[in-house]
Amino acid sequence: MDAEEFRRAGHRLIDWLADYRAHVAHGPVSQPVEPGSLRAQLPANAPEQPESFDAVFADFERVLAPGLVHWQHPSFHGYFPSNAELSSVLGDLLSTGVGSLGLAWQSNPALTELEDLTLDWMRRALGLSDAWRGVIQDTASSATLVALVCARERSTRCSFAHGGLQAEPKPLVVYVSLHSHSSVEKAALLAGFGRDNVRAVGVDAHYALDPAQLARAMADDRAAGRMPCAIVGTSGTTTTTAFDPLDALGELAREHRAWLHVDAAMAGSAMLVPRLRELWRGVEAADSLVLNPHKWLGAAFDCSLYYVRDAEHLVRVMSTRPSYLATAFDERARNLRDWGIPLGRRFRALKLWFLLRDQGLVRLRARLERDLDNAQWLAGEVRAAPQWRVLAPVALQTVCVRHEPDGLAGEALDAHTQRWAERLNRSGLAYVTPAVLDGRWMVRLSIGALDTERRHVEELWRNVRTAAEGGALAPRAD
Ligand code: PLP
Repeated sequence: MDAEEFRRAGHRLIDWLADYRAHVAHGPVSQPVEPGSLRAQLPANAPEQPESFDAVFADFERVLAPGLVHWQHPSFHGYFPSNAELSSVLGDLLSTGVGSLGLAWQSNPALTELEDLTLDWMRRALGLSDAWRGVIQDTASSATLVALVCARERSTRCSFAHGGLQAEPKPLVVYVSLHSHSSVEKAALLAGFGRDNVRAVGVDAHYALDPAQLARAMADDRAAGRMPCAIVGTSGTTTTTAFDPLDALGELAREHRAWLHVDAAMAGSAMLVPRLRELWRGVEAADSLVLNPHKWLGAAFDCSLYYVRDAEHLVRVMSTRPSYLATAFDERARNLRDWGIPLGRRFRALKLWFLLRDQGLVRLRARLERDLDNAQWLAGEVRAAPQWRVLAPVALQTVCVRHEPDGLAGEALDAHTQRWAERLNRSGLAYVTPAVLDGRWMVRLSIGALDTERRHVEELWRNVRTAAEGGALAPRAD
């Protein structure tokens, strides 16, 4: 594709996206699709001859667009918000279009310097001290893996430079909570701790990690000749947005010389709102912290911020120094390949920078406040309705609900819950995610897509009730 063809096709693509975003609310949030049905409509082999952009895009519209779940739809209430503000989308496009990689500061000075700056902007906006230094990772899953590798290497005084974990005299233990995200256990396994050395600590009545149980588990491990290595605390758990008590976790980490990593993937963005910072009180005691502006904040996926207190240790663990990457600036500049796993780095800071400048912190905070209000409103409605329950504190934008008709319990209640959630999702009127809490299915209603206003939340509540209570689900009016 030459530059002129790119210009023509690019205008068409931007027009399509602008129309898509302007009108997405008028259609269903998703359409039922059978596995394999989309692929079956496309050729099995790559084309031998070039095809026009128009032909490719026609297939996108005909075959693939119906298979999209519209995460940017105001009635998307599944998983978590993954907002892609249009300004941020442009930043992402710019990054891809210039196609300049950050292997070293010298290979793209603009990338490194802007990443440094935006991470500092975010740090201040979140109320974090200047003891932190940050870098962008692709996802929280990768950041947590990096954190646990760094924890392992600190506890073993850099075992990887010698015999690795296999040469360690004591097994190293990682402490998570029963409500930690699955990526945390995965990171612990990939970092070589072994499932036997991952402790899933119990939670309190509000689903936050119970520090008394953690203290006992750490003491027991130490008494048995194992070495407590890392604690992962969550600010905003996936199922209920519970906040682990970071101050207590920090004390235990200090006592056992263990690493404290904070997974604030979803909730970290909320800390732009000063009154919410109480929820992660104690965060300054952590060694590392991850939060995802690609969730609620509005940075287009993928943009995960990883902050550490001891940057030297991170670089010691992650650095590689082959001659072909050496530059004359290595002593004076940051080489971000030494701050994580991949060598190649996209210019991700652009999409965050575009977002921050386009919205300003004032608008970002106002949108978060709108969603917090809407979630509280919804929780109030659910609590007031007969046979409905809100199952967990509503700290942010997720409301965990269950419809409990008289006489239904146990597996019959589970079947009812899954049936109405599926019915709602298949209707295209909303998209919600069921999950298990205390051994029983319930439904998470996540508020916070960019365009979700109070009227959409009112509509959600009407449709949830109808789906569960057995009425006819009316098609979208607009
Ligand atoms: N941690 C928490 C608390 C989450 O809610 C999620 C979200 O799915 C993750 C980690 C994983 O995030 P990512 O997709 O960036 O790896």
